[in-house]
Amino acid sequence: MPELPEVEVTRRRIGPLLIGRRIREIRITRDSNLFLTRPARLRARLTGRRVAALGRRGKYLVAEFDDGARLVLHLGMTGQLFSSAATNPRLLSATQRSSLAPDAQENFTPDVHTHLQICFEDGGPEVYLRDVRRFGKLLLLERGESHPRLARLGVDALETTGEALFEATRGRTASIKALLLDQALISGVGNIYADEALFRAGVRPARRAGRVTRRECERLASAIREVLERSIETGGSSIRDYVAPDGSDGFYQDERRVYARGGEPCARCGSAIRRTTVAQRGTHYCPKCQT
Ligand SMILES: [Zn+2]
Repeated sequence: MPELPEVEVTRRRIGPLLIGRRIREIRITRDSNLFLTRPARLRARLTGRRVAALGRRGKYLVAEFDDGARLVLHLGMTGQLFSSAATNPRLLSATQRSSLAPDAQENFTPDVHTHLQICFEDGGPEVYLRDVRRFGKLLLLERGESHPRLARLGVDALETTGEALFEATRGRTASIKALLLDQALISGVGNIYADEALFRAGVRPARRAGRVTRRECERLASAIREVLERSIETGGSSIRDYVAPDGSDGFYQDERRVYARGGEPCARCGSAIRRTTVAQRGTHYCPKCQT
């Protein structure tokens, strides 16, 4: 699932392809759960509009238009937002892929999973939204309009502070990991980064949140910002279907210390990394470095 770094990398890379350009046409393959705003309304409202800015709230991308309307996009499990000029074998269908030589790079041709195609008046590269499993969401908000999905988001994970984390966890009996994943508390921390940040802070994921000390909250907040910023720098994690908008792969998965490393030796102490379930999520930690 794309997490905050992947969404932020997408925002930074796709921004220049959207900002300042006027939409000539919106093409939609078919209506689906993806469209919280009906396709006919999206077409009517966005055709002729110019993109003024591309922002992010937690894991949501928010495109703002010249008339103040905003298009809110969540990439769900398998959402991909990229340029028609992108090349990456993972964008191709299984059939296309099997007929490709290993190093072949071809431009992507919109397929049945390409739900949205944005064409611009300048005739340059188009922008595609592709989502195989359709857990993504697309919503149009008029100027000044709000939506519960955005309104209930907590502070952005890149702006987390130890003090805020300490306050928010006092008296809480839920696990610290469950609270880190609570989007109303901190928006944008997902499973991978929660595990990585807890490792760096030396805190065991299942520990009661209320028992995490002030000092540990400081370490945890720094660790959250560090792992997210580092992942953004390296282009996000190329897990499953995530592909950066220009078709390149991310490299963060090479830097993970615990996530998906169950049974491997801890890089710090050599103990075997454990895999368990906390907050209904697969969870990885070092039994010696994390208490
Ligand atoms: Zn260790």
